[in-house]
Amino acid sequence: MYTSSKPVIKPEVDEWIDHYPKPRYERERLKELENYNILDTLPEEAFDAITELAASICDTDIALVSLVDKNRQWFKSKVGLEVNQTPREVSFCQYTIMKGSLLEINDTWDSELLKNNPLVTGEPNIRFYAGAPLKTKNGNNLGTLCVIDSKPKKLDERQKKSLTALANQVVAQLELRHVAQKEKELNRLKTKFVSLVSHQFRTPLTVILTNAELLKLSCDEYKGHELSALEKYIQMITNQARKMVDLMNDVLVFSKTTADRITANPAPVDLLPLCKLLVQELDQIQTDNRVVDLEVIGDLPEVFVDAQQITNALTNFLTNAFKYSDKNPRLVLSLKPGWVNVTVSDEGIGIPREDFSNLFQPFFRASNVKDIQGTGLGLVIAKEYIEMNGGYVDISSVLGKGTLVSVLLPTVASLEKRPFAYE
Ligand code: ATP
Ligand code: MG
Repeated sequence: MYTSSKPVIKPEVDEWIDHYPKPRYERERLKELENYNILDTLPEEAFDAITELAASICDTDIALVSLVDKNRQWFKSKVGLEVNQTPREVSFCQYTIMKGSLLEINDTWDSELLKNNPLVTGEPNIRFYAGAPLKTKNGNNLGTLCVIDSKPKKLDERQKKSLTALANQVVAQLELRHVAQKEKELNRLKTKFVSLVSHQFRTPLTVILTNAELLKLSCDEYKGHELSALEKYIQMITNQARKMVDLMNDVLVFSKTTADRITANPAPVDLLPLCKLLVQELDQIQTDNRVVDLEVIGDLPEVFVDAQQITNALTNFLTNAFKYSDKNPRLVLSLKPGWVNVTVSDEGIGIPREDFSNLFQPFFRASNVKDIQGTGLGLVIAKEYIEMNGGYVDISSVLGKGTLVSVLLPTVASLEKRPFAYE
């Protein structure tokens, strides 16, 4: 009887079968499959037309577009089969994606590896299988286009070529679908963006206009007013106008990063003076005397980054730490082998657990921000900048207790040892 233990290796079956059939870049492969957003979606005509054609050309009962997920194979399209998925461990397609080219098994009963497979011993009683991998531009085999029959069979050259060509068509369809999806998402963002920006502009504009009116009135009757009243109105106008400029800048950077129009110009950077200057600037603009507590642990080597972009990213983390807390933010620099670790922490409102997965979505703001102002672009831009510079960012938080942002930036020395990291 078939068990779910590792398949027994029988060299006569094919030498390509690994002990544990998982492609070398399995994590990347699964990530790419996930990015296509196709698993568990409804049937689509474009794919069904291809499976129909494959079954007809190869003259088989069953044809499938099978996508090999972590623990299952899921059928985007199927002819002659009822089930939507089977466990990965019993799938034939796991072997095709390992082989990376057309795999044909003329009679499963002759195969030590497959003759006890439940899909052979039970429904749909597979005797014949041929599968062509769905290979993406990145070289990942996401699944297969396969044909299956309950009688032994042998494909002729024309059928083999057709099956491979049709598999390439499946990949082309997947890509088209992906592009369409991205466009849709972009349009959704655009609409959201327009409504959000118009909303965000309305408040400062109203304040600006009101204060300008007051200023005008005060100027007309200048003698009757204290100078401090005028200063107050001017300050309000300046603050609100600055807010709008900041917002516009964020929006501009965001649109450029999403359009891949910004690149990093990395150079060796000493982070300590950079952070000291940044802290000084931020301390100066606080209205409540709060300051950033800066701590440096050990001697820091130079990092290889775009200084301006990293400054911008850290500015947003620190601005958040000021904004979402009423205590001093902490900025700590320390060394991790190959990296400088920069952490920004606060003892503020924290982030609700259920909002975590959306933190890096444009315009997303957590449910507990109440009337604290923001656009929800800062983190997206900061993350983009850090990753563009070969770094990583990670956020952890406890609701009501505080938030910790941890950034890793590559040291110059580590990149010299990894000459291809910056190709
Ligand atoms: P802006 O685009 O002006 O920076 P924002 O601060 O709202 O606006 P992000 O910096 O992208 O946007 O942060 C997104 C959301 O993540 C915030 O709205 C807030 O809900 C949450 N957040 C970020 N940092 C913190 C923090 N230190 N403490 C609590 N919540 C935070
Ligand atoms: Mg922010």
